[in-house]
Amino acid sequence: MDEVLYNLKPTKLIKIVNEQLDTLHAGRDVVDLKAIVNHWTAAPGQSAFITMHYCIFVTGNAYHYFVDRDGMIYEFIKYPHRANHCGANVYTTKARERFPRYCPPTDHRIIPHNNTPNNITLGICTAVEDEEGRMTPECYNSLVLINARSAVKYGKDLNIDDDIILHSFFTDKKQCHKYFVLFPEEFIAFKQRVKYIMSIYKDSMIDEVEEYGIRIEENGSNTQVSLV
Ligand SMILES: [Zn+2]
Repeated sequence: MDEVLYNLKPTKLIKIVNEQLDTLHAGRDVVDLKAIVNHWTAAPGQSAFITMHYCIFVTGNAYHYFVDRDGMIYEFIKYPHRANHCGANVYTTKARERFPRYCPPTDHRIIPHNNTPNNITLGICTAVEDEEGRMTPECYNSLVLINARSAVKYGKDLNIDDDIILHSFFTDKKQCHKYFVLFPEEFIAFKQRVKYIMSIYKDSMIDEVEEYGIRIEENGSNTQVSLV
């Protein structure tokens, strides 16, 4: 994907306003950013908009940013508000060793709410094109940009090689973000690109546009999601 990196088109970040988002982050904040966690929607060809609908009304999960197939970035939860994106019932050994306070060894449902890696991470979810999690060039570029922007703005002490991670770091149950799980060398290349963009990052690389609400209409099995 080398060719797309140096051919960045203007990327738009749209701020989503939705009163139900407040109930998702429940007023809690990230206490200390230790990692940026990348996810996929697990729904090939599906717009990030539709996934947002499931997050708001069905799963209760949330991410700070969604990156859509066309490269548009949606700010869903405003950092440092906490997003519910990488808590698990059972954490991997590496997660427990690295973040023992936030990845306890027992079922987290009986542990005080504070012990979750959601307290120390920023979550980004990406639309994908196929079952292996490939992304459009626009989507990939925006994913590089939003990781770089998040690190520049909120994570000055992050070590990109170790601290930009995947959801699967925390749980064996999910291959998330699947493309980078299947092709770890691509994840290494991705982080190199994030570092490069961080070195040249300017706010103008992402055009932050005004806030929009999100309207969801359901007609039978059809879900229409639009900005209002
Ligand atoms: Zn995930």
